[in-house]
Amino acid sequence: MTPRIVLATHNTKKVGELRAILAASGLDLPDGGLVTSGEVGAPEPVEDGVTFAENALIKARAVCAATGLPAVADDSGLAVDVLGGAPGIFSARWAGKHGDDQANLELLLGQLGDVRPEHRQAGFVCAAALVTPDGREEVRLGEMRGVLETEPRGANGFGYDPILVPDEAPEADGADGGRRRTAAELDPEEKNAISHRGKAFRALAPAILEVLGAR
Ligand code: IMP
Repeated sequence: MTPRIVLATHNTKKVGELRAILAASGLDLPDGGLVTSGEVGAPEPVEDGVTFAENALIKARAVCAATGLPAVADDSGLAVDVLGGAPGIFSARWAGKHGDDQANLELLLGQLGDVRPEHRQAGFVCAAALVTPDGREEVRLGEMRGVLETEPRGANGFGYDPILVPDEAPEADGADGGRRRTAAELDPEEKNAISHRGKAFRALAPAILEVLGAR
């Protein structure tokens, strides 16, 4: 079918996530109804905003302008309390090179080396933005708070997942002594249910439904 909405990302995993969230909110988009900016060849703008919301809007505006379709974008990162919210918008390139998850995580653990457990609170933050060709702009925020470990654990997820134990994470089954799990030890469904991205996209879903329903 002809695309009706574009998700500003080159990560096809995010499409599945957004489609599932929209379906749970009552909109079942058939294959091809939701496409990525990568698939339609929309350019990637410079993300020079200084907040998650600004960067999400920059991406959604660029894709909407390039395609003439409603566009959804998200921007996310890890905000560590004792670092005043850093790495924040610099999460993906904290160690210098964009997207080097291992180096980013090791640098952060080193910086927090002497920080006691009671001061290791942090949260993943996500801004989800919707921009339409007639100029409507909506932004919703989601957060997943937790505590940072001193050693990485778990093989699921990406980025800083192996060091954040989410406050809302379900207890493990006891095989590991009832220890609370890191985000990288959660199944994708368990993480989506409590994640910053899940919360932001679910909060944006009614506006997306309204826009698509009106077209
Ligand atoms: P982006 O918004 O997908 O570009 O994510 C920016 C960066 O934030 C990623 O490279 C990760 O370092 C971090 N990040 C965002 N969301 C998550 C998450 O769910 N788990 C782990 N790291 C994340």
